[in-house]
Amino acid sequence: NKIQIAKTPIVISEFFETLKEEVARSNNETHTVNLTFDLLEPVIKTDPKLLRNIFINLLTNAIKFSPEKEFVYVSILQDDKGLNVTVKDGGIGIPPDDVKNVFEPFYRATNVMVIKGTGLGLSIVKKAVDLLDGKIHMTSKIGEGTEFSVTIPTV
Ligand code: ATP
Ligand code: MG
Repeated sequence: NKIQIAKTPIVISEFFETLKEEVARSNNETHTVNLTFDLLEPVIKTDPKLLRNIFINLLTNAIKFSPEKEFVYVSILQDDKGLNVTVKDGGIGIPPDDVKNVFEPFYRATNVMVIKGTGLGLSIVKKAVDLLDGKIHMTSKIGEGTEFSVTIPTV
């Protein structure tokens, strides 16, 4: 692999607060992003560009695919193995037939055709998570919402 993974110290709370502000500003504050932290260590060492890429994409999706004024809940937990972040929205959800394909490049579910996008974000997220030796899971209910869970080892 040609990509160099940086292991830079990141202050977790600052990192997510900054990301939240950035995403809120670029979406004209249409949604409320709620961050909760349950941390053992304020600082982790990981690649900030990859981490930013993952959560910019997940937050942007959560906002884009849910109605204005909705909440997006981001929960940041840490245990002795690493960091677990869930991003949960109360949006349109993903049809059961589409769920298995959303990490494929260019794939967009049948219920989002009127919403802008190229279908690349989640394929990039998946690559970034893989580069960090992490895992990503998704659960979704059509008309109710979607939750992505990302686990990244930090030891
Ligand atoms: P891009 O990210 O390239 O601008 P996109 O957002 O449509 O376009 P992805 O981020 O790759 O594409 O997501 C792929 C598809 O997965 C989306 O088109 C949508 O169908 C579905 N999806 C992803 N996140 C959500 C979500 N939070 N709620 C509902 N559907 C989602
Ligand atoms: Mg996207």
